[in-house]
Amino acid sequence: MDNTAMRAWAEIDLTALRANVTALRACAPGAGLMAVVKADAYGHGMVPCARAALEAGATWLGTATPEEALALRAAGVGGRLLCWLWTPGGPWRAAVEADIDVTVSALWALREVCAAAREAGRTARVQLKADTGLGRNGCQPADWPELTAAARAAETDGLIKVTGIWSHFSCADEPGHPSIAAELAAFHTALAVAAAAGLDPEVRHMANSPGTLTLPESHFDLVRPGVALYGISPVPQVGGPADFGLRPVMTLAARLASVKRVPGGHGVSYGHHYVTPGETTLALVPLGYADGVPRHASGSGPVLVAGKWRTVAGRVAMDQFVVDLGGDAAQPGDEAVLFGPGDRGEPTAEDWALAAGTIAYEIVTRIGTRVPRVYV
Ligand code: PLP
Repeated sequence: MDNTAMRAWAEIDLTALRANVTALRACAPGAGLMAVVKADAYGHGMVPCARAALEAGATWLGTATPEEALALRAAGVGGRLLCWLWTPGGPWRAAVEADIDVTVSALWALREVCAAAREAGRTARVQLKADTGLGRNGCQPADWPELTAAARAAETDGLIKVTGIWSHFSCADEPGHPSIAAELAAFHTALAVAAAAGLDPEVRHMANSPGTLTLPESHFDLVRPGVALYGISPVPQVGGPADFGLRPVMTLAARLASVKRVPGGHGVSYGHHYVTPGETTLALVPLGYADGVPRHASGSGPVLVAGKWRTVAGRVAMDQFVVDLGGDAAQPGDEAVLFGPGDRGEPTAEDWALAAGTIAYEIVTRIGTRVPRVYV
């Protein structure tokens, strides 16, 4: 890859992604694997990551929105594909016609997908989602008997086929949290109610990345990892990526836009929250919060420049931030590595998450569209 003339780039290591799929499949040997590629594959690029995941043996793809699922189809990505975040009036018919499995959590959604199936003259593939305790999307236990019975009736009418029943954990990233056992039990109950209604789905699934890595009892027919595919540990308090056989996929780097000597007492960036302690060398990294560098990491974000970790000096601005190199030398055009796998001495996305008071999921997902993804 010739990146010598690039301002900044996010290198996406698809070999690592494929290896992560293999590692995750090995964690759940009896189950299929749905590669969650929503939110532009957590910032890594949805279509190339989806293709790489399928090549490595993912059996399904998962997106949040129907628009994401339709974009995969428009790019020619085949295979089983589930999306789950619908609003009334959504593109049900387009999804049915594109062989996308759609998620239904409420009667209004069942009505809309049945209408779309009628219009399309096709049987819609529907997965029912139970709220087993997350308190977000999903059908409440009190409404589940009515939803499953209505879905069964729609099956009998030939409008839909219930291909899956699924749920999502609230606290799987906190191993030992009492909600985990309670939510698994609630899922078993939801499955029993569905079976009593006459439903016989192809797949039952619940495990996100932490479930895939740490809760074999949550694997059912399919695991649904997202962040672990991209080589980020969902449970950093338990272990880093390498402890789970994973390798980070994204490396974010830039070329220094300016290097200059300044005297002591020089205020740096908006608000002068950093003042040089003595004569020093300041280097300018041409990435800012418009590129996803968190402003909350002002004064704390780590960057590898000239062989050492530096800290963001002063505020992260929209397009740039400054690091203080002290007595070290650098040139405009030298590489600054914000994060990567960490084995070349660079910080990781987890280090940025700690610096910004967030999670590594958010660090990679927010890397902006102005930063080209370079696939290797
Ligand atoms: N399943 C659903 C419904 C999700 O919303 C997500 C992501 O938030 C995932 C699976 C993947 O989660 P994770 O990235 O923790 O593996």
